[in-house]
Amino acid sequence: MESILVLTHTDDAHALTKASFEAVSSGQSLAAQLSASLTIGIVAQDATSAAQSLAATGARLLAVSGEAFAQPRYATDAAACEALSRAAAATIVLAPASSRFARVLAGVSHRLGGLIDTHITSVNSMPGGPDPSHLGISESNQTGPEDPTVHVTRWFYRQRIEAVLTRTARPWFLLLDPGTQPAFAAEPGNAHPEEIAIDLPAPRTTVTGLRAPSQATHTIRPDAKLLFVAGAGWTKKQFDGQVHTAEAADLILGFLHATGASLGSSKSLVDQGSDGQPVLPFLTHLNQVGQTGATPRHPKGLSTCCHGEEPHVVGWRFIASRRAISLDPNCGWTRGKADVVYIADAFQVIAELNALLQAASQTG
Ligand SMILES: Cc1cc2nc3c(=O)[nH]c(=O)nc-3n(C[C@H](O)[C@H](O)[C@H](O)COP(=O)(O)OP(=O)(O)OC[C@H]3O[C@@H](n4cnc5c(N)ncnc54)[C@H](O)[C@@H]3O)c2cc1C
Repeated sequence: MESILVLTHTDDAHALTKASFEAVSSGQSLAAQLSASLTIGIVAQDATSAAQSLAATGARLLAVSGEAFAQPRYATDAAACEALSRAAAATIVLAPASSRFARVLAGVSHRLGGLIDTHITSVNSMPGGPDPSHLGISESNQTGPEDPTVHVTRWFYRQRIEAVLTRTARPWFLLLDPGTQPAFAAEPGNAHPEEIAIDLPAPRTTVTGLRAPSQATHTIRPDAKLLFVAGAGWTKKQFDGQVHTAEAADLILGFLHATGASLGSSKSLVDQGSDGQPVLPFLTHLNQVGQTGATPRHPKGLSTCCHGEEPHVVGWRFIASRRAISLDPNCGWTRGKADVVYIADAFQVIAELNALLQAASQTG
């Protein structure tokens, strides 16, 4: 019988992160499918409100808390996750692939003699899980209703191949990609987690503070409903034979401000800085979408001034509804890679859109 542990952690406001809630719902679903026990472990400076938000799960709640866990730090986070895994006698450990857990859990699984898989997009015992036929699993490989085998899915080769994996080694640690699961949500209730005491190693790292760009300059917003992608066309010569980089920057930032969209980019555009060509100053390689960039998850995407070549579009794997604005009627988007393509000048379209959005915000 499996013993399932979901590891969670809080954000700066002492609330559990959204990705933690996603891991909780995945753990609930798996525990129900396997009729297995579910434990939720909390790593926090103060676990009180996190535990209350999990009261409705009915799961056993464990916590490692205190000042040492106010900040992410390898030594303290690894010790916390190890202690929680041992206290739960976990055979399957689900955790959000946050930067905090992604960097410690491989080490934790090694300490426990377990194995870890990353970038997991679903976890199921096959009988209650999705129909695997679309994944090419033959009848004979499928498990019967009484089979408690746990199957996980993840993507390989830059999101081109989806695979189903299973392992017999335990404990099995699984880092879940954020945005792939529904987030657990319920009214807070009374909950008193069992506090797990741990002997912390003498800290060699002291967190003295954080340096981050101001919130206004954050253009990558994983939870945004819309991904807005800027391509190299924004900095190319336009009909008048001139480049209009400053105008492009104003239009893009205006659109982002009005919509709260997340900003992606093609490789060509972010590479231009190092090539000495006109650049949009708010773009970095972190914005790059594609084979050698990110594969974000947003319900909708709007590509502008981008050619829609395969190494870029492969990064759109998880964008459900795709639209593009390009001057080129023969671009990659028109060849089946977007749902709707506007053959138009993106400068004009986005200027008009920004005006409509501004008018709507004034009347609304
Ligand atoms: C190994 C490898 C990995 C790669 N990985 C990535 C990756 O991760 N991500 C990525 O993006 N690329 C990647 N590439 C590069 C990719 O193949 C393309 O070169 C790149 O995506 C092109 O960027 P672009 O479409 O913005 O620029 P361009 O190809 O220059 O296209 C610009 C487009 O803008 C249009 N345009 C110009 N002005 C306007 C206007 N006013 N209105 C509307 N449209 C306009 C033009 O018609 C043109 O279609 C990779 C390539 C290789 C070989």
